[in-house]
Amino acid sequence: MTTPTTLPCSFSALRLQSSNQSPVNPQGHYILYWMIAARRCRWNFALQRATDVARELGVGLLICEPLFCDDPFASDRTHRFSIEGMRENQKQLNSKPALYWPWVETRPGGGRGLLEALASEACLIVTDYVPTASLPHLLGVAPEKLPVRLEVVDGNGLLPLAVTDKDYPTAYSFRRQLHKALPAFIDDQPLADPFTKLRLPAVTPPRKVAECWPAADPVALLAKNRLNQLAIDHRVRPVPLCGGSTSAESRLDDFLSEDFTGYVEQRNIPDLDRTSRLSAYLHFGHISSHQIFSCLAEKEGWDSSRLALKPTGQRSGWWGMSEHAEAFLDELVTWRELGYVFCHHRTDYADYRGLPDWARTSLNLHRNDPRPRLYSKEELESAETHDPLWNAAQRQLLREGRIHGYLRMLWGKKIFEWSPDAQIALQVMVELNDRYALDGRDPNSYSGIGWCLGRFDRAWGPERPIFGKIRYMSSANTARKTSVKKYLKRYS
Ligand SMILES: Cc1cc2nc3c(=O)[nH]c(=O)nc-3n(C[C@H](O)[C@H](O)[C@H](O)COP(=O)(O)OP(=O)(O)OC[C@H]3O[C@@H](n4cnc5c(N)ncnc54)[C@H](O)[C@@H]3O)c2cc1C
Repeated sequence: MTTPTTLPCSFSALRLQSSNQSPVNPQGHYILYWMIAARRCRWNFALQRATDVARELGVGLLICEPLFCDDPFASDRTHRFSIEGMRENQKQLNSKPALYWPWVETRPGGGRGLLEALASEACLIVTDYVPTASLPHLLGVAPEKLPVRLEVVDGNGLLPLAVTDKDYPTAYSFRRQLHKALPAFIDDQPLADPFTKLRLPAVTPPRKVAECWPAADPVALLAKNRLNQLAIDHRVRPVPLCGGSTSAESRLDDFLSEDFTGYVEQRNIPDLDRTSRLSAYLHFGHISSHQIFSCLAEKEGWDSSRLALKPTGQRSGWWGMSEHAEAFLDELVTWRELGYVFCHHRTDYADYRGLPDWARTSLNLHRNDPRPRLYSKEELESAETHDPLWNAAQRQLLREGRIHGYLRMLWGKKIFEWSPDAQIALQVMVELNDRYALDGRDPNSYSGIGWCLGRFDRAWGPERPIFGKIRYMSSANTARKTSVKKYLKRYS
């Protein structure tokens, strides 16, 4: 992100940057929203920006939602979930003053040129900021090569990423920063419906776009076997969870009305499975953390005057909400945004060298410790270890594209224990998580995996073989501390 923009902005300008020096094109017919992360029609800062500018310039709005097949882990599982989201967006945008152009690439490189073709008749392009991918990679072209101004909007979390000037070593240090900085932004929410009272001219797509990159038909693509025609990994099968904003909102409603009141005591009990299960929807942008926060605040009858004035850095008590809400917000805001801030400031977020110094020193010291058990990536992938609880977690990942949050920690710790060294363990965790988890490939994939090797944690004693000072977990202790009987049965 480079320079601030000049057109007036209806939310904190810290979320908005111009990423090239090209001018706004007064001859253009529309504002182009290149929807690549916030894949939804509501509670979306980037879409709000696009509608604001379209209204200001009196031009139409074209929303292109591309889906590429050359992402390393693109599979039937990830694509089906994304396309279910597209089906939802198509339905919702049908009655709105915007042209929706879903586009699904069938072979790698097929989308090359699409953005430039759309840009040729645009006044301005708006897109989403993604901390784990470079802009040229996301656009398929260097921003400077685009003929019109490109604006990038950070709608990732409650705290704009630009407020931070570094990454944070622990959740505690980041929480202190949140407590200081967040009050200024807590009421700066995106509009639930950016189309309210909006009237815009109709848009026709450039002829080249209609000819070379015809709009996809999400309904037809979801019909039996149509995903087979795409150059993606067909071995990773779709899961029952349905993608899209409506499913995300209905899961949020169910969580707040049924599971939420037990969150503090029950979130770490795999047999009960009472966490929100919203991470995949957050990852695909089918729901925003702002909407989740706002629904929770409404349920709690909360307003920002209840925030504690002093930054405490403590896990609970600062928000002025119930204990369940405070615990949930510590995950949704503190932990989630800690990971986003880390990836925003660091390029080594998925590498061994991105671990803290104390952790690498300890891991190096224990690098040659004998490993009583070693499993290959293939054995781990097919859940063929001696440990029934670990195998059950891996099977949940294979079948459902998720692992209960408490067991996910054990899953990572054991992969480390059973691998020749921490570097190999890191690679295996990233590969299995990113390939099979619906919420994989997210900033928090690398936070969670890094945490298993000491990131955002402290040194623990007693120092142990293999783990050194890295926090240790065992399946026997986990099974003693929580209830896993039903879980084991379910995923046996
Ligand atoms: C080895 C390992 C790998 C992980 N990989 C991912 C991943 O690929 N994608 C991902 O989003 N999370 C990942 N996590 C973090 C965490 O396990 C999941 O976010 C959580 O289990 C999702 O379930 P939920 O939505 O029911 O969470 P809830 O308990 O309902 O929490 C609400 C939201 O808060 C956020 N959150 C919760 N726990 C964490 C956490 N520890 N760190 C960061 N954010 C959190 C998520 O966005 C989540 O949806 C990983 C953790 C570990 C230990």
